Amino acid sequence: MKVVPLISKEEIEAKVSELAAQISADYKDKNPILIGILNGAFIFLADLVRKLDISCECEFFGVASYGLSTETSGIVKITKDLTTSVEKRDVIIIEDIVDTGLTLKFIQKTFKLKKVNSVRVCALLDKKERRDVEVDIDYLGFSIPNKFVVGYGIDYNERYRNLSYIGYLDFEEK
Ligand code: 5GP
Repeated sequence: MKVVPLISKEEIEAKVSELAAQISADYKDKNPILIGILNGAFIFLADLVRKLDISCECEFFGVASYGLSTETSGIVKITKDLTTSVEKRDVIIIEDIVDTGLTLKFIQKTFKLKKVNSVRVCALLDKKERRDVEVDIDYLGFSIPNKFVVGYGIDYNERYRNLSYIGYLDFEEK
């Protein structure tokens, strides 16, 4: 199996700066709470918050989707719940990839039930052509083709999270 480079470290860095500038402008004086979706978004969140020049808080929310290792089933379970109240808060969900949209839909529903003031989504990657349910992404890094990607926090069976770039797996290549 080979990792074929798709988005370089430099491209990611420039895009994260761009997203941080947009979020900083939109949330000035709002003290938003950024919720990193575990495990895939941990590096993205860490880089993004260091580029924000506003007051903000960080939290983590863990979800796991049942299914084969490269497919989502849509049945999502919470593996790590929040440790703080988000009632009346301005929440920004930080996701690694939106694929079918089922995971994000579940997360958005969960947060709306928590009586937040507002909820927006910031996703690093979007595989639009795979969408099964409609979801809004307010801040998007890159639209990518329908390939199984790894790197920059994103894994395949827990491997490759440590790559500083994003690549796709060529399952044919030994
Ligand atoms: P969705 O529910 O939108 O189909 O899938 C979202 C989740 O599936 C992502 O947060 C991610 O964990 C996983 N996922 C979707 N596409 C990929 C991919 O190309 N590579 C990896 N490693 N995970 C993916």
